[in-house]
Amino acid sequence: MIRTGIGYDSHRFGAERPLILGGVKIPGGQGLTGHSDADAIAHALTDALLGAAALGDIGAMFPDTDPQWKDADSMRLLGLAVERLRGAGWLPQQCDITVILEQPKLAPHVVAIRNSLSGVLGVPVDAVSCKAKTNELMGFIGRGEGLAVLAVASIAPAT
Ligand code: MG
Repeated sequence: MIRTGIGYDSHRFGAERPLILGGVKIPGGQGLTGHSDADAIAHALTDALLGAAALGDIGAMFPDTDPQWKDADSMRLLGLAVERLRGAGWLPQQCDITVILEQPKLAPHVVAIRNSLSGVLGVPVDAVSCKAKTNELMGFIGRGEGLAVLAVASIAPAT
């Protein structure tokens, strides 16, 4: 029995912090604003995994009203979500991620992002897909105001 979940996240550029996606610092990118470290890949993937297990969402698990999650390392939050899945009898199987942004180019960092996510999910790197595309200069992404991430993840029973 395989289950699939979907996640979406978006964040605005403009924070005085490095651009972090999938736990990887992306040189040349503007930082994203947000309560945690604003790692939109980690957030979308967390929602996809929680969604696959019907365990709610990232906002319910890590409320932004809770000071303990301020400037949190979102890869740690992702790891806690994976632990919660394991506790409910589920294991991540694979994921596929699309990042939509105009700049900077993510292609040089995709392997590092896949490796980083594979470690937290406990799956082989060839079960982690990450790709990037522009929004053809349309809308908020096209104007460079922020970026968006789509994630799909599959889970299977632990035994
Ligand atoms: Mg977010």
